[in-house]
Amino acid sequence: MERTNLLTSFQDFGLADPISRALQEENYTVPTPIQAQTIPLALAGRDVVGIAQTGTGKTASFALPILHRILENRIKPQPKTCRVLVLSPTRELSGQILDSFNAYGRHIRLSATLAIGGVPMGRQVRSLMQGVEVLVATPGRLLDLVQSNALRLGQVEFLVLDEADRMLDMGFINDIRKIVAKLPIKRQTLFFSATMPKDIADLAEQMLRDPARVAVTPVASTVERINQRVIHLDHSAKPAMLATILQQDGVNQALVFTRTKHGADKVVKGLQRAGITADAIHGNKSQNYRERVLAAFRTGELRTLVATDIAARGIDVDGVSHVVNFDLPNIPETYVHRIGRTARAGAEGTAISLCAGGEETGYLRDIEKLIRIALPKEDHRTPGAKPAPSTAPQRGGQRNGQQRNGQQRSGGQRNGAAPHAARGDAAPGSNDPRRPRRAGGPNAGRNPDAARHEPAVRPQHGGQAEGLQGVAFLQRKNDRPAKTTNQRPQR
Ligand code: AMP
Repeated sequence: MERTNLLTSFQDFGLADPISRALQEENYTVPTPIQAQTIPLALAGRDVVGIAQTGTGKTASFALPILHRILENRIKPQPKTCRVLVLSPTRELSGQILDSFNAYGRHIRLSATLAIGGVPMGRQVRSLMQGVEVLVATPGRLLDLVQSNALRLGQVEFLVLDEADRMLDMGFINDIRKIVAKLPIKRQTLFFSATMPKDIADLAEQMLRDPARVAVTPVASTVERINQRVIHLDHSAKPAMLATILQQDGVNQALVFTRTKHGADKVVKGLQRAGITADAIHGNKSQNYRERVLAAFRTGELRTLVATDIAARGIDVDGVSHVVNFDLPNIPETYVHRIGRTARAGAEGTAISLCAGGEETGYLRDIEKLIRIALPKEDHRTPGAKPAPSTAPQRGGQRNGQQRNGQQRSGGQRNGAAPHAARGDAAPGSNDPRRPRRAGGPNAGRNPDAARHEPAVRPQHGGQAEGLQGVAFLQRKNDRPAKTTNQRPQR
């Protein structure tokens, strides 16, 4: 692993003045560990393979040196070309990355655009007509643009592959290979992944030239800072318990997780019957609808949001005081990702999990094992009541996930810190151009599974369960309502 002398101030990097000014305006003073490691290497022109999750400041770690380097040699891009190509798995993440480039490049009149699926291609074709400096794209749409001669990749000088492990999970690897085959061999490549299973390491090996390796391990304290408890109760008592929780003092904004889309809608209806305004986002809701709901949640206008794991990716709202697991997730890491939506920006956070026995007892055991905490429990069960009906795969059916988890842990994420499983889709992010990000959004891409419902997550029955995504480690402000926050597939 490359260990440079870690720089403790952005000044030390010697970034071009307009970039430094933008950083001051962003209130970035101290580089994050991934930035401290990556920026000097990337400025020196090295290829870099980085293990880092969203929330570690990884976007700036590639965007800043790239901006600096394009400024060193500012040439007008040729029509239908780009100088910098950033590939990301989802629309949401792509939008956030573009926001970051625009924020850091705000004093240099950067030309940057997005090529993502789920929206008509015409505008993207027009934006590319004159050529752009930075193109952030999801793989499927990028290939469509190339195939329709709207874009040529022969002038790419910088390639960033972000969230490579999610790309793999979402079935994008072939698209990526096709794209890479069209790129000039002489280029700088920065490759990021939250985990480094063998197929990702192999892909990096093929794409990078003598790469420097950097890694950051996520903070373990996310879990510890959150006030967690479990309520054992009858399955049928969950809606009433949820309503009671939400009516308690101290609940500012609550994010309620269900495992299925159908479940999310049912919870909203139940809350509405109890007189609590709530809305749901999940993969069956239209893009516009989700954007509206998320914007309302970000501004605090909507206090209770019910979401599936995938749809919730990237929800990065400082006001979330409570996370309620209406259903316990069957993947223990998902628990960590979910509860990481509260206690943000140093605030207090509470996570309450409703456990209806049966399979959920097993899930709870797995979660406690992962986080190495015996969660405090309250027992509201009716003696003799039946446990919850089974809706999820049997434990044997989780082999795939368990195996991955094993890989993740060996990838350096210990202490129960969210080992970023990064499957399936991603989520929306605040699109405030000054405060970008967070990964997110489902997508299907060309993965046949994913195309059917949302993401290529492990199969579940009893509804279309969704995947998960990383815990944020850096504070985000939500001082402006976000604009787009879709979570659709990206072709
Ligand atoms: P990322 O991991 O790139 O998604 O970044 C997570 C969040 O941290 C974003 O809101 C960034 O704007 C913010 N951020 C990134 N680097 C820094 C830094 N050095 N200081 C303060 N905030 C940062």
